[in-house]
Amino acid sequence: MITIALSKGRIFEETTPLLAAAGIHPAEDPESSRKLIIGTNREDVRLIIVRASDVPTYVQYGAADLGIAGKDVLDEHGGDGLYQPIDLQIAKCKMMVAVREDFDYFASIRSGARLKVVTKYVKTAREHFAAKGMHVDLIKLYGSMELGPLVGLADVIVDLVSTGGTLRANNLKAVEEVGEISSRLVVNQASLKLNRGKIQPIMDAFTNAIASRT
Ligand code: ATP
Ligand code: MG
Repeated sequence: MITIALSKGRIFEETTPLLAAAGIHPAEDPESSRKLIIGTNREDVRLIIVRASDVPTYVQYGAADLGIAGKDVLDEHGGDGLYQPIDLQIAKCKMMVAVREDFDYFASIRSGARLKVVTKYVKTAREHFAAKGMHVDLIKLYGSMELGPLVGLADVIVDLVSTGGTLRANNLKAVEEVGEISSRLVVNQASLKLNRGKIQPIMDAFTNAIASRT
């Protein structure tokens, strides 16, 4: 049995065509089903529906053979025990530094001020500012980072941005790119060795589907 770990929402939607290209069709729609384990047309393939940030953990420990996770999540996880063979080019966005419209980020850096940063991505943010030689105080949040600078919790947020609509709606502006984000296929290294006969064709179908996408 091959188990594939997926999260609901954006990633699932954009993954459906890739699964179809590999001849895998879910028996139920996870958006409407409450089931956490979803069968497919293939008796030897099942899907498990987990929180986006939990995908690397399931694959790392071999509870899932394959998974699909954002680079944001993989960078935070660290990628231990995971083989990351394919950039699926889905769920694309950017990790950005953003501040209040009226905050001069670059002047603040020049003055050597110690900035307060709120983010869900503590490891990514720490590495970004350390590489710039900046000293920051990191505060972990689990959601709605945009609120932080508006109520004085922080000067800066580090978060995913796609259109910038949420930033604008909250009088924030992006000031620096941390990195480009897309979703990646992750594979448990041991199960790849053990089940290459089943996993390699799935990887090949994904690769071909991505290459033929316009
Ligand atoms: P939850 O919403 O349940 O707290 P989550 O925020 O981790 O969990 P999603 O918002 O569905 O889950 O995000 C899942 C993945 O989709 C992220 O890890 C990221 O890789 C990608 N993603 C998030 N926001 C965007 C966006 N605005 N545009 C494109 N991709 C995004
Ligand atoms: Mg979310």
